[in-house]
Amino acid sequence: MKVIRSISELQQLTKTTQKKIGFVPTMGFLHKGHMTLMERAKQENELVIVSIFVNPLQFGPTEDYETYPRNEVKDVELAKEIGVDIVFIPQVQDMYPNKMKIKLSINERIDQLCGKSRPGHFDGVLTVLAKLFHIVNPTKVYFGLKDAQQVAVVDALIQDLNFPIELVGVPTVREESGLAISSRNVHLSPQEKKEATELYKALNYGRKLVVDGETNPVMIEKEVKNYLKNNTSSKIDYIDILSYPDLKKVDQINQRVILAGALYFEKARIIDNLIFNEQGNLENKFS
Ligand code: AMP
Repeated sequence: MKVIRSISELQQLTKTTQKKIGFVPTMGFLHKGHMTLMERAKQENELVIVSIFVNPLQFGPTEDYETYPRNEVKDVELAKEIGVDIVFIPQVQDMYPNKMKIKLSINERIDQLCGKSRPGHFDGVLTVLAKLFHIVNPTKVYFGLKDAQQVAVVDALIQDLNFPIELVGVPTVREESGLAISSRNVHLSPQEKKEATELYKALNYGRKLVVDGETNPVMIEKEVKNYLKNNTSSKIDYIDILSYPDLKKVDQINQRVILAGALYFEKARIIDNLIFNEQGNLENKFS
């Protein structure tokens, strides 16, 4: 396995190879969720590239850019164990040597969920991904459905800017408790971690209401919020049911929807979601 830090070195390599490249962009502090993406990329491609880059552009001024967990040495070891071919670790000053002269901005799929509570976040995501896609030249890219809004935004990027790339959405990897694995979980206290497992339970409770015939999203959102208020000390950022992947409000659940939630604990904000059809059957894929 090669660790490449230079943009031009990687670009030279990816422009000349004939191999199918599977690309997994990450912010590092790798865990089982990331590993699942890498394994999937390995199965489906001849060359697997993983990037590790904590992208300052996608963090708001009061967000956790400085305290975002990092462990490059361990990340490189884990990627090697999985059989990744190249780990790309660019420096911030190389990715953004000057203030960007171009601003990429997304107009749709961001006025709800994390897009609403993190203004500018997805513009930063789009910008770094457009750059990484040009550098890595992938055939397929792998993103986790834990960040389902991000998957919808990447889909828009690929479609609107004609990147010749196939987007693969990988189902959320969970701890045994049901908690969606996330690098940020290290900032949860033991008590908060226990309470955080209630988010997945609450989402499943909401989905069960649909299975039992409830079609009114407002009713379900209310029930899920009440469940969380009664079972956690967190502050609810949002609990929303929207069409997926267009992320529009629905009056009735008569199509594929996402039931998504975000909770603030003292030092971490956690997110999770379920994507299901009008019968409440899970649709753990992106298309
Ligand atoms: P991050 O390093 O948090 O930016 O995540 C990099 C990629 O891993 C993103 O596509 C995430 O959606 C994905 N990812 C993170 N956690 C999980 C998880 N628990 N299950 C599946 N994918 C995940």
